[in-house]
Amino acid sequence: MNKRLQTLLVCPKCKAKLEYQAANKEMFCRHDQLAFPVRKNVPVLLEMDARKTEARNNQ
Ligand SMILES: [Zn+2]
Repeated sequence: MNKRLQTLLVCPKCKAKLEYQAANKEMFCRHDQLAFPVRKNVPVLLEMDARKTEARNNQ
């Protein structure tokens, strides 16, 4: 995926910068623990399509 595009992507929910996770081909929002899928090199920044990831710590 385009590096420049990656740096411009923000979470549709909280507007925080998203991190690209190459292993899962997802854009990840740390704040919401949401992973947005990247389909055919196009990030799908829809909350309804995002995968909710579980926080592993117990704080
Ligand atoms: Zn977010």
